[in-house]
Amino acid sequence: MPSYDPQNIFAKILRGELPCYKVYEDDKALAFLDIMPRAPGHTLVLPKAPARNLLDVKPDDLAAVAQVAQKVASAAMKVFSADGITLQQFNEGAGGQVVFHLHFHVIPRKAGVPMKPPASEKEKPEVLSDHALKLAAALKG
Ligand code: AMP
Repeated sequence: MPSYDPQNIFAKILRGELPCYKVYEDDKALAFLDIMPRAPGHTLVLPKAPARNLLDVKPDDLAAVAQVAQKVASAAMKVFSADGITLQQFNEGAGGQVVFHLHFHVIPRKAGVPMKPPASEKEKPEVLSDHALKLAAALKG
């Protein structure tokens, strides 16, 4: 497996070099909206520590990310009146991974509504801002 590339786009977001629609942050993990959501509220959860994917992440960082994914999933159920949550995580190109900093997709689902194809449509900034604010508020409790 190739080594971690610190120039990947999520590493730049983590360093504050690129913007994101932030939903949640703690000392170990960051969650922000996917700009090409497969359903409204589609959120990415990633460890702050460098890890290419599931195959090289340190167990403690993986545990921290899983805990944040659970929090985001609970908040998204309420904010988007969801009927369920799809959790996705891809490893290496053959596994469907495009950005090589480990991330989990937390996707709120409505019964009977299919997900859009991956990376099919960039959401409007005002919609992403609104969704991020609502999720962040729900996560604050
Ligand atoms: P994958 O590596 O296959 O899990 O997919 C990467 C995901 O990152 C896709 O769902 C993209 O829509 C999303 N994405 C790419 N660039 C950005 C960005 N700058 N901010 C938020 N999401 C992004």
